[in-house]
Amino acid sequence: MTDLTAETPQQTTPLATAKAQLAGAVEILGYTEGLHRMLATPRREMNVAVPLRRDDGQIELFTGYRVQHNISRGPAKGGLRYSAGVDVDEVRALAMWMTWKCAVVDVPYGGAKGGVTIDPRLYSQAELERVTRRYTSEIMPIIGPERDIMAPDIGTNEQTMAWVMDTYSVNQGYTIPAVTTGKPLAVGGSLGRATATSRGVVHAAAAALGDAGVQLREVSAAVQGFGKVGSHASRFLHDAGTRVVAVSDEQGGVMRSEGLDIAALERHVLTTGTVVGFDGGEAIDNKELLALDVDLLIPAAVEGVLDAEAAGRVKARWVVEAANGPTTHEGDRVLAERGVVVVPDILANAGGVVVSYFEWVQANQAYWWTEREIEDRLEHRMVTAHRAVAAVATAEGISLRDAALTIGVRRVAEAHQIRGLYP
Ligand code: GLU
Repeated sequence: MTDLTAETPQQTTPLATAKAQLAGAVEILGYTEGLHRMLATPRREMNVAVPLRRDDGQIELFTGYRVQHNISRGPAKGGLRYSAGVDVDEVRALAMWMTWKCAVVDVPYGGAKGGVTIDPRLYSQAELERVTRRYTSEIMPIIGPERDIMAPDIGTNEQTMAWVMDTYSVNQGYTIPAVTTGKPLAVGGSLGRATATSRGVVHAAAAALGDAGVQLREVSAAVQGFGKVGSHASRFLHDAGTRVVAVSDEQGGVMRSEGLDIAALERHVLTTGTVVGFDGGEAIDNKELLALDVDLLIPAAVEGVLDAEAAGRVKARWVVEAANGPTTHEGDRVLAERGVVVVPDILANAGGVVVSYFEWVQANQAYWWTEREIEDRLEHRMVTAHRAVAAVATAEGISLRDAALTIGVRRVAEAHQIRGLYP
């Protein structure tokens, strides 16, 4: 039976955080234990062995997961993560967050996540292709454009989605682009998808600042993570006039109090693969970045970086969560005590899945929209979701996180209850 709470309140795993967040929302909503248990428990999980024949002929074995947390509002939806440390509990947490995220921005999906225990940086493209195709073929019975739709996450990209789509399609006997999103444009991807999460983060930041009468061009920012989300977010912030004073990646960070030249930094990353060594700023580490005296802090890397200790050092007035689960439950409490406004992940980084939804709709209709249409619709969704969340937060006197969670959880619970139990 699913444990409804973390074993100890100090637990800082993503699943402990996700469960504690759900428990908080359930309490606010006054739901029964039975309903709480339904909402806490994944509908379906699959664990698969993923063997790989390496380029040198050796055999290695990875574990793959796909967790479908909820499908009450539509097909399961969520990314696929390649990372050596992935485990089933992390995938469960990420799947649960996808459920609330899709509900908060009102796209007709449930939530899912996949993972394979591989560090993609250590393998050739040919090896990654074989791993991806084998994983896809193992989970084939539970995925599909009406069942469960995959997208990129940490360690995967457009190419991974093309291989998943091709493997699925070849086995079905015809091309089914809507089985994945975040694909290359050449095989039914959507304009604007590659930058959608980052654009959404910037819309969410602008909206939160706007509530305090502040504009993006008036603030300074630090961005942790310079990958698919953090790099574009830094550029869009810079373009909006924000002074982006620091960025970092896994290897370290750089800072310049007058603001970094993001275009020059991007060129440096393109040639060296890291922000470290960029001569347009001084070196700092990831810990220092989180504690910088900036207005806006954007964690755009991994889970759990803002635990109670790191949260106690945050000087920013706003934390906009571009990563999934960057703040632990305890960290959240500390930030709240310090008066930091946290724009929660399930709202702030929902731009990715919003444009994934647009990609799926376009693929289903075999009719492609212009970039303008996509960008305008994305902004509209983000602003509408922000307004709804901010209104609940003000009316109920709760945090933006609790407001977003109660909206998401309520929508899922409503769908679940209206459908009823079978038999
Ligand atoms: N991996 C992204 C996320 O965590 C995108 C998911 C999707 O588009 O399905 O939101």
